[in-house]
Amino acid sequence: MNSIEEALINTTNDVIFGIDLSGKIIYVNQAASKLYDYTKKEFLGKKFNTLFSNRKKEEFSNILEKILFEESIEPAESIRLTKAGTTIKVIASYSPIKDRGGKVIGISSIEGKISEYLKIERKAKALIEFAPDAIIIVNQLGQIILVNRETEQLFGYKRKELLGQEIELLIPKEFHTIHYEHRKHYYAHPEVKKMRLGRFLYGKKKNGKTFPVDINLSPLKTEEGLFVMADIRDNSELKKSEEKFRKLLESAPDAMVIINPNGNIQIANKQTEKLFGFSKGELVGKKIEILVPVGIKKKYLKFRELDLTDSSTTLITPVIVGREKTLYGIKKGGEKFPIEVSLSPLKIEDSLLISIATRDISERQYMKELELKNQELEQFAYIASHDLQEPLRTISGVVDLLNLEYKGRLDEEADKYLSFISASTDRMTKLIKALLGYSRIGKEKVYEKVDCNEISQQVTSDLDVLIKETKAKIHISKLPIVNALPNELKQLFQNLISNAIKFRKKDTPPQINISAQKMEEEWGFQVKDNGIGIDEKYMGKIFTIFQRLHSRSEYEGEGIGLAVCKKIVELHNGKIWVKSKPGEGSIFYFTLKKEQ
Ligand code: ADP
Repeated sequence: MNSIEEALINTTNDVIFGIDLSGKIIYVNQAASKLYDYTKKEFLGKKFNTLFSNRKKEEFSNILEKILFEESIEPAESIRLTKAGTTIKVIASYSPIKDRGGKVIGISSIEGKISEYLKIERKAKALIEFAPDAIIIVNQLGQIILVNRETEQLFGYKRKELLGQEIELLIPKEFHTIHYEHRKHYYAHPEVKKMRLGRFLYGKKKNGKTFPVDINLSPLKTEEGLFVMADIRDNSELKKSEEKFRKLLESAPDAMVIINPNGNIQIANKQTEKLFGFSKGELVGKKIEILVPVGIKKKYLKFRELDLTDSSTTLITPVIVGREKTLYGIKKGGEKFPIEVSLSPLKIEDSLLISIATRDISERQYMKELELKNQELEQFAYIASHDLQEPLRTISGVVDLLNLEYKGRLDEEADKYLSFISASTDRMTKLIKALLGYSRIGKEKVYEKVDCNEISQQVTSDLDVLIKETKAKIHISKLPIVNALPNELKQLFQNLISNAIKFRKKDTPPQINISAQKMEEEWGFQVKDNGIGIDEKYMGKIFTIFQRLHSRSEYEGEGIGLAVCKKIVELHNGKIWVKSKPGEGSIFYFTLKKEQ
């Protein structure tokens, strides 16, 4: 190599290694010494894989192997160790070194620092700049070489007033001597640590005011030497309690707003932004009435009468508005929604603030209305079916009489009409009975321990004739004892089992399996049959009252059995659903909550 080549190689920032086939370093440039911190002398003859951590040593043997087999190697990231044991990341490209005859005699590794590092560096800078703590970097002479925004805020100096100054500018005079000592000691033994000077550490603002701080120190070893990074946090009680308070506010599940006694918003949390659609900035300083226009003013004004010198003031139970009378909140877009609000006085440093927690109760309101409607509907069904029974009984009696007295004595046409009336009256009687039965379910809610084995046995013996007729096989696994309404539960089994028999395939005797499974808070039951099955598009429909999929001539029924099942299951806080394929049978699933 001539001297020009040598000079060139030594001025490049890329690291260059020459390695022989035994893996020993036989050449390095200056950049290599700079990056890895070994002298040229130390490098030569050293195994190249000492630059890899134990876990990565194989990486280099693989490369060596590939080079020998003349496979090409793409430049790749590689993690290396410096002399001090620090890990660094490089991009390495390896090539074979050949002699004149073209024989491979070694391998070169040309390594560059990764440009990603530059990106990270930029990110790190931004991170420091916007960190919530004051961050100051100091050189070995104790001079400030970097500060962030929070440092300016906390100490009241402009950045340019701080850069180049000794760090002691920010420390009260009485601590200067001890701080010099500590500084010297720290540079001799750099480590990450919490700083302690006596019991408390103090900072000094530009205006001379001192204040307690928490400081964490970290050494920064760089190519330019050792620096110290100090992470400083205002530790005054006020600051601490303010932070705690904000954290608490943000962690509250409700929308929380703090107002002064005149109703001006001081603070609002994230949930308020979410619920009302205003940003915090749009709220602070405004009257609370932009969120809750009417209904609370009197209440918060009343808090002004509180005696703030009385320490129990903050223990006053919150005033809740929106329970008896509906209270409305207004979203940014003008949308009104029902809310419940809880107001409590807050005593902060001898002045009164009021916290207002708002909860959206639209859903609760909706559920209440739904429940009310359902109740009304049930009441109606009950009264209607009950009262209809009476005239129906009369009609039915008269029709029986007509049949008895006049059948065969009138003409054929009249006989036909008579039988129509008779059949329809029967059907109506059945429907009304069914409806009455449906609305009676759960009228007396007395839950008790019910053994499902016993109940299902009773049901199968009640259905004995039908079972024999249809040659049905019913297999019941061990079932649990549950907390339930006994009559209703029996009806549930009765309906599911009789449906499983009723909707059988014409030529196959019914095969029914009943089993149960214990789950976390509920029991899961299934009633499986091998019947005609149900088309998916009807599955939602069948649990509705009077919904049937077949004509009565095909399968007898009122279309109320599954509606009854649904009502019963829901009385036990459970769910009922079906899985089925037409022609392959059905499985009815239902759950019952263990505790009612
Ligand atoms: P009904 O049995 O009086 O018709 P249900 O409310 O008990 O009324 O059932 C509604 C409809 O659901 C039935 O008409 C039938 O089409 C379908 N169905 C119920 N159980 C089964 C079953 N095990 N197999 C197939 N279809 C069923």
